[in-house]
Amino acid sequence: MNISSKISNVNGRMPLRLKIWIHFVVFILLMFVLMWIFQIFFLESFYESMKTRSVTENAVEIVESYENEYKDGNRTDFINKYSEVAVNNDVCVEILDKYGRSIYSKDVLGECLVHGKENRTYKFLNEIRRIEEPEALYKVSNPKNSGDMLVYICVLGSVRSPEGYLLINSELAPVGSTVSIIKRQMFIITIILIFIAAIISVFLADIISRPIDRITKSAENMAKGDLNTQFDGRGYLEAQKLADTLMYAEKELSRVDTMQRDLIANVSHDLRTPLTMLKAYAEMIRDLSGDNPVKRNEHLEIIINETDRLSAMVNDILDLSKLESGKQKMNPTEFEISSKMKDIIGRFKGVSEKMGYHIHFTPDTERIVCCDVGKIEQVIYNLINNAINYTGDDKQVYVRQINQPDGVLIEIEDTGDGIEEDKIKLIFDKYYRSENHKREVVGTGLGLSIVKVILKLHGYDYGVRSTLGKGSVFWFRINGGKNL
Ligand code: ADP
Repeated sequence: MNISSKISNVNGRMPLRLKIWIHFVVFILLMFVLMWIFQIFFLESFYESMKTRSVTENAVEIVESYENEYKDGNRTDFINKYSEVAVNNDVCVEILDKYGRSIYSKDVLGECLVHGKENRTYKFLNEIRRIEEPEALYKVSNPKNSGDMLVYICVLGSVRSPEGYLLINSELAPVGSTVSIIKRQMFIITIILIFIAAIISVFLADIISRPIDRITKSAENMAKGDLNTQFDGRGYLEAQKLADTLMYAEKELSRVDTMQRDLIANVSHDLRTPLTMLKAYAEMIRDLSGDNPVKRNEHLEIIINETDRLSAMVNDILDLSKLESGKQKMNPTEFEISSKMKDIIGRFKGVSEKMGYHIHFTPDTERIVCCDVGKIEQVIYNLINNAINYTGDDKQVYVRQINQPDGVLIEIEDTGDGIEEDKIKLIFDKYYRSENHKREVVGTGLGLSIVKVILKLHGYDYGVRSTLGKGSVFWFRINGGKNL
C-alpha cells in the first residue's frame, strides 16, 4: 500500500469543510428553534406577564400617591398623579370610596370594563370583598370587541377597614395576528440565514483547511523520503505551529538519516581496510613468507593487530547498543582513581613508544571513588584515545586528576585543531565524525557516544573546552570519593 492510499484510508471520516458547514447549519437551526419557541409559543404569556407587571407597578405608584399626597390633603397632586399614570400607560383608573362609590376616574380607553355601559365595578368590588385579599387581578373578555382585558383591584387602607378601592383596567392586545406576522418573518429570516451560514461556513472551512491541506501534501512528500520539503503554515497560529514542528521533525530525521548513512559508510570503510590487510597478509604468508620464519612472524603480527582493531570496533558497536538498551546496569565498586589512571595510561605505552606520543599525567593525592570501574576505565580510555588521534604535531597529551571537595575532576587535554563551537554539541551524538579527522587508530564515531551514555548513567557532569588552533580539554567529574 503506498503512502497516499494509507493516508487517505480514514474510514469514511467527514471532510473538514462539510463538518464545519453542518455545525454551522445545526447551530443556526437550533437558534431558530429556540427563537420560535420563545417568540411564537410563549409570546402570549410573555406579553401577559409583562402587562400584569406594568399594571401592578401603576397601582403601586397610585397607592403611594394616595398615602402620601391624598391623605395629606394634597388632592390636586393625587389627581395629577393617577391621571398621568393612566395617560402614560393607556389604562383606565377608578378610585372608589369605602362604600364602592366612584370618587375619581380617568378613562383613556373609551369604553372600558369599569366605566360606561360595561361598568362591572361592583362585580370586582364584591369579589375582592369576598376573598378578603388586599389585591386581585382578573383577565376578562371584553364583550364589545371579544378582546381580553386585565382588571386590577386593590384595597386602599387595610383589608379589615378599607378606606377605598383602586381599580385599573388595561387592554390586552390580541397576540395572534402578531404571531402570524412573526412566523412569516422568521421563516424568511431562517432561510436567508441558512443561506448566509452556508456561504460563511464554506469560506471559514476553506481558511481552516487550506493550510492543513498544504501541510498534508508536504508531509506526504516527506513520508516519501524528500527531507527537503518546506512546510507552509501561513493562515493561523496552530497551522504555523504544526508546520514549525514538522520542519523540526524533518530536520532531526534528516540529521539521523545522514548520521546513519555516515555510520554505514564509516563502518564499512573501516572494516574494509583491516579485512583487505588480513587477506593480503594471509596471501603473503601462503605464497611468499610461509617458509621464512622472520617475515612470517612479522606478517602474522600484522594480522593479529588488525584482528584486534576489528574486534575493538565490533565491541564499540555492541557496547553502545547494550548500554542504550538499558540491559547493562552500572555496577559500582570502590577503587583508587590515581592508580587506575596510571594503569590506563600504561596501556598506551605501545602507541607512545612506537609513534612518539607523550602522555603527561598530573595526579592529585590518591582518592577512593565509587563507580563502575570497568565503565569509567572505558571513558578515560576513549578520551585519551581521541586525544592521541586528534592532538597536534607535537604529539603531546595531558591528563590531569584534580581533587575537589565533592568529587574528582578528570581532564584530558590535547594540542590539536580544537573543535568549532557549533560542532561541540554534535560530537557526543552517535555516529558523528568530523570530515577532517586524521586518524592513526580506527574509530567508528561511537567513542564519545559511549562516554556520554556511561557518564549519564552515573549522573556525572561532563563537557569540552576547546580553542580553535590550540586544542581541546575533555573533562568529567566523578562525584563523591574519599581520601585514603
Ligand atoms: P571517532 O573518534 O571514532 O570519530 P568519537 O565519538 O570518539 O568518534 O568522536 C566523535 C568526533 O568528535 C570525532 O570524529 C572528532 O571529530 C571529534 N573529536 C573527538 N575527540 C576530539 C579531540 N580530542 N579533538 C578534536 N576533535 C575531537
